[in-house]
Amino acid sequence: MKHAIAYTGNPLDRENLRRRGREWMEAQQAAPESRYLPLFQLQPLLKLGEQRTLAWAKREFFEDLDPVPEPVLLGSLDGVAHFAVDVSVATGREAFFGVADVASFEDLRATVAAMPAADAAIAAQARTLVDWHARHHHCAVCGGGTRSVQGGANRICFDCQAQHFPRTDPVAISLVVKGDRCLLGRGPGWPESMYSALAGFVEAGESLEDAVRREVFEESAVRVGDVRYLCSQPWPFPSSLMLGCIALAESEELQIDRVELDDARWFTRDALRAALAGRRTDLTVPPPFAIAHQLIRAWVDGETG
Ligand SMILES: [Zn+2]
Repeated sequence: MKHAIAYTGNPLDRENLRRRGREWMEAQQAAPESRYLPLFQLQPLLKLGEQRTLAWAKREFFEDLDPVPEPVLLGSLDGVAHFAVDVSVATGREAFFGVADVASFEDLRATVAAMPAADAAIAAQARTLVDWHARHHHCAVCGGGTRSVQGGANRICFDCQAQHFPRTDPVAISLVVKGDRCLLGRGPGWPESMYSALAGFVEAGESLEDAVRREVFEESAVRVGDVRYLCSQPWPFPSSLMLGCIALAESEELQIDRVELDDARWFTRDALRAALAGRRTDLTVPPPFAIAHQLIRAWVDGETG
């Protein structure tokens, strides 16, 4: 893949060994140089400006909130600990925190194109972790309360001691190709011209390859043979891992599942080349921050083998 994939390339050291030590964790929380990324209702705080960079704050930013939120350690960079902190308990947004002139809480999907790659990757990690913690205050085994341990790497139940780990949900996203054509679909509610690679969650007890074959067949009735994994992308809405594949079709006739898709069609390489260049008003593909875009581009450019 020639092009970087959005939300990848996180520069932080996740500190999975040192975060096990309570003393080390407490020292990072107390260190004046430690940095905190506030998120309000899952929106990270970004500095205002043409390029939207992460607005790291000091501990004082959230210490007066009631209750005081518990930060989650994202990792360290150059010896400085970086945390995410959920400040949604606040009764206001930017003005409440006194930062309205310099920063704003932003939807990560809407702003990723304007963010440096490293910042987008850190924000993705923060969004997924903060969301997971907010949803897991109770134990799935016994219903008891849970507490965050190891700086938010996981949670433990107060009652039955069960450990719970942040989830990552694999999604198979496949560009189905046959010769010089590839299969793209349009989901319900999408713009008329928008087509993308077929995607679906990998289900329980299923390999990635089997998931691709099942998903493509369910949505289009096209039979897939070889499946080649190409690249992946964390997708923090809320906790997916997109697994990008090239799927070689063994049949062409379409029978579309109208619940999942409004339409699906075979497109030539030339048609997609024109669409990527913005020369087609009747055919558009997802924007560059979506892995589907990178799959389509790699295939059009002949990089997929
Ligand atoms: Zn429990």
